[in-house]
Amino acid sequence: MISIAIHGGAGVISRATMTEENERAYRADLERALDAGYAVLEGGGTSLDATAAAVRILEDSPLFNAGLGAVFSHAGINELDAAIMDGATLKAGAVAGVRHVRNPIDLARMVMDRTSHVLLTGEGAEEFALAQGVKLVPGSYFYTERRWKQLEDARRNDKLASADEDIGFFSTVGAVARDRQGNLAAATSTGGMTNKRWGRIGDSPIIGAGTYADNASCAVSATGSGEYFMRAVVAHEICARVRLTGAGAADAARDVVQVMLKEIGGDGGVIVVDRNGELSMEFNTEGMFRAARDSRGRREVAIY
Ligand code: ASP
Repeated sequence: MISIAIHGGAGVISRATMTEENERAYRADLERALDAGYAVLEGGGTSLDATAAAVRILEDSPLFNAGLGAVFSHAGINELDAAIMDGATLKAGAVAGVRHVRNPIDLARMVMDRTSHVLLTGEGAEEFALAQGVKLVPGSYFYTERRWKQLEDARRNDKLASADEDIGFFSTVGAVARDRQGNLAAATSTGGMTNKRWGRIGDSPIIGAGTYADNASCAVSATGSGEYFMRAVVAHEICARVRLTGAGAADAARDVVQVMLKEIGGDGGVIVVDRNGELSMEFNTEGMFRAARDSRGRREVAIY
């Protein structure tokens, strides 16, 4: 079975706080990303290419906290993080704190494919991007009025805020997929948290925390309060439980998100694909922007 799931963040999202027009816009972008990723799988492409294709579309949407729609740091700068992992080889690539890269997920893939490293940060990552022929964009590319207002609010209240604090929402993006060869992949991209300081990096680009893939168990991409996901090493924890205890991926995800993560105060969710291509989407918040599609005919987009 080929399958793909994507997310665009989790949080306190209720029908009361979401206008119809907003909801339509979110659903449309999720569908586009889902179908683009699925088309890669259907054409015989790899799960790595499928997850990157889906994430790239969400990075180019102003709605999500990744790429174009990234949140601002305390200093009024957009610092982007992304990671991708290949379940067949356990190879991984990630970038953190990049400021001029339109599609950080593609740069993460280059780190995986073209270097012997896993994680590059800041200026070094951008030097690498230039050496690879990536055209850098000016910082102003990432300016959106909505994110700037969110920063002003967060600064006023002196707090680290999820992307859409007004509705209590994390809107990092991610994808997991299984291709025809049975290979799994996971990809995640984010602007982090509004008002973050001092070079703060969250779970998304940390292999094992917000992103993990292993053909022997499952592939996971997370969204939520990154510090907690790092402390619980959520993505790897789910995969390890599947591999070591024989638990089903959906059960492992439920347990980690609803019990382990909650116990330390973490909010958010994960999308998971197991070895057979079964998808699960688990969150301990009111909602999670999510979508899933597989070759058995499942195709759904959901928010609440
Ligand atoms: N997990 C991300 C971070 O902490 C935030 C998010 O999911 O929106 O950087």
